[in-house]
Amino acid sequence: MYLYNSATHKKAEFTTHTPGHVEMYTCGPTVYHFAHIGNLRSYIMEDVLEKYLRYSGYDVNRVMNITDVGHLSSDADTGEDKMLKGAKREHKTVMEIAKFYTDAFFDDCRKLNIKRPDVVEPATNCIQEYIKIVKKLQDTGYAYFAGGNVYFDTSKLARYYIFNDHDEDDLAVGVREGVEEDVNKRNKNDFVLWFTQSKFEDQALKWDSPWGVGYPGWHIECSGISLKHNGEYLDLHCGGIDNAFPHHTNEIAQSESYLGHPWCPQWFHVHHLNTATGKMSKSKGEFLTVSLLEEKGYDPLVYRLFCLQSHYRKALVFTWENLDNAKTAYEKLIARIAALKEGDGAVDEAAAEPLRAKFKAALDNDLNTSLAVTALYDVLKAKTNDATKLALLGEFDQVLSLGLLDHAAAKRAEAAKTAATATAGGYTVTGEGDPEVDAQVLARAEAKKAKNFAEADRIRDELKAQGIEITDVPGGAVWKRI
Ligand code: AMP
Ligand code: ZN
Repeated sequence: MYLYNSATHKKAEFTTHTPGHVEMYTCGPTVYHFAHIGNLRSYIMEDVLEKYLRYSGYDVNRVMNITDVGHLSSDADTGEDKMLKGAKREHKTVMEIAKFYTDAFFDDCRKLNIKRPDVVEPATNCIQEYIKIVKKLQDTGYAYFAGGNVYFDTSKLARYYIFNDHDEDDLAVGVREGVEEDVNKRNKNDFVLWFTQSKFEDQALKWDSPWGVGYPGWHIECSGISLKHNGEYLDLHCGGIDNAFPHHTNEIAQSESYLGHPWCPQWFHVHHLNTATGKMSKSKGEFLTVSLLEEKGYDPLVYRLFCLQSHYRKALVFTWENLDNAKTAYEKLIARIAALKEGDGAVDEAAAEPLRAKFKAALDNDLNTSLAVTALYDVLKAKTNDATKLALLGEFDQVLSLGLLDHAAAKRAEAAKTAATATAGGYTVTGEGDPEVDAQVLARAEAKKAKNFAEADRIRDELKAQGIEITDVPGGAVWKRI
C-alpha cells in the first residue's frame, strides 16, 4: 500500500517495524461536547484505513485516547480547560461530562459503523506515565521548571518543525491564536508538560507530582498513552490536520527526546470538513451532529458515504445539497443490491478477481475511497452471477462499512412483508413495499366487494395519477410504479 506521509510530504510504501503487524495510534475526542460531523470525518477515514490494513492481512493494534483533562481552549497552553468549560456550561462535574460525552461519542461511532479501537484510554488513567516521562525529560535537560509549570525546551532539538515548512512567525502559537504569550517560556514554541499554576481556582482534576499538585498538558497525554499501549515503536499515527501543529509536532519532540530514538515514521492526517463559513469546530458553538442528521431524516451511513466519496487529503465542503446527493446515491445503491438474487449459484472466482484487484488498487493508492466506492458499481455492472456480486459487495464492505448487505436484506424483508399483505377475505396485495399504496389497493378491493364501483375507479385513477398501475390477479392484485 502507498500512503501519503505528512512527515516526509511524500507518498511512500507503507512499512512496519514488525512485519505483518501495525501499531496504530489515533488522537481521540476531547469529551466536553458532542463530536461534530467534522470530527467524525476524521474517525471515518481512520476507520477505513484500519480496516483496509486488516483486509490486507496486517494484524493491527489500534490505540485511542479520550481527552478528559488538560486540553485548554487555545492549543497554545492558554485559556480554560475545555472540560471545565463543559462542566460549567452544564452545571455538572467534569467526570460526569466526560462520561456522558464519551458514551455519546461511541454511540455516534456505532451509528457510523466506526469500529471501537482495541484500546481506548482516558487521559486521567495514565497520570503516573506522564510524570515518569516529564521527570526524565527534566533530568536529561529537555524540560525546565518555570513559574510553577514544567515546559519542554524546543531549542534543545535539532529539528522541531516536522510537518510544516512555514515561516516560524506564522507558527508562533501565541501569535497564531491571538492570545498573550506565556512569559515563562524560554522559546515561543515551548509547551507545557505539567501545570501546577492554573488561572482557574476551580480547576477540577489535580494530582500530586514532583512539581506540586497539578495536571498534565494535552500533548503529553498522547505520548504517554501511546508509549504505554503501542510500545516504543509506533508505525502509524493519525489525526485531523489541525493536530499536525502544535499537537503532533510536540508529541514527536517529547517522545523522541524521552526514548532517544525515532518514534513514529508515518503520519496520516485527515483534512477538514468545512462549512460555507469555514472549518466546522466545537468551540464556535454551532455545529452539526449525527443526531441532528438523524432528526432531519438522514441515515448516518449516508454521511459515511458522503465522506468516502472524497479523498481524505482534500478539504470537504458540507452542504445539505451535497448530502442529499449522497442520500440519493445510497438509496439507489441499496435498491440495486436488494434486487440481486441470493443463492444464485456458486461464486465465480475468475470473474471476482479483476473486480477485487480494482478495489485493492484504489485503496493501495493512498486510500482512494471514492474509487473504491466506484468499484462497488463495477461489481453491480459486471457480467457475472448474483452470488459473485453479493460475495464481493460483502467483502468490500468489510472495509467501507456502508451496511450494504444488511440494508439490502432489510429492504428485501420489508418488500416481502408488504408483498404478502392480505385482507381477512384472503385478498393479497403484492407491491413494491409501500404500506400506504397497499392500503389504497385494499380499500379499492373492499369498494368492489361492496359493489361501489365508482369508488373503486376513483382509487384506481388516483393511484394512476401517482404513476402506480394495478393489475388484478386471481386472489388479489399486484401494483407497480411505472
Ligand atoms: P477534538 O475532539 O477537538 O480533540 O478533535 C477530535 C479530532 O477531530 C481530531 O483529530 C481533530 O483534528 C479532528 N477535527 C477537528 N475539527 C475537524 C474538522 N472540521 N474536520 C475534520 N476533522 C476535524
Ligand atoms: Zn493526540
